[in-house]
Amino acid sequence: MAETIFSKIIHKEIPATVVYEDEQAMAFLDATPVHPGHTLVIPKEASRNLLEISGESWGAVTEAVRKLAPAIMKATGASGINILMNNGQVAGQVVFHTHIHLIPRFEGDGLELWHGTPYKTPEESKEIGEKIIEALK
Ligand code: 5GP
Repeated sequence: MAETIFSKIIHKEIPATVVYEDEQAMAFLDATPVHPGHTLVIPKEASRNLLEISGESWGAVTEAVRKLAPAIMKATGASGINILMNNGQVAGQVVFHTHIHLIPRFEGDGLELWHGTPYKTPEESKEIGEKIIEALK
């Protein structure tokens, strides 16, 4: 897999404000935060995104997220937190080393995520639901 800026952070070749590290995962502050305290959690094992990550790395990353979320809220005084992940260029992924964004949220901070649109018919949702169930087999 191609080296990314995050591999350089793992190997301490470039600086980052590291807030958590264990054998399989680490977390550091995003260089261009949505809000101060915006943190990225990454596996140390290389993978491009969720579509490639091993179960073991995913377990380590999500456990780090579980520990970090309340700590980030406490440290920033946030009253909520978004846990987000961009997988693939079309989904907004820019750095192709798996990472999860932890973004502290504040009352009235004005950030909007996305707007949903209801299914046009019950058949439309049934059809896509069945395709997903089939794809899981
Ligand atoms: P993506 O769009 O791939 O989900 O998000 C990549 C994130 O990495 C962006 O929010 C960006 O600000 C952050 N980022 C990119 N380069 C660096 C860097 O060198 N150091 C740190 N700490 N964050 C970075």
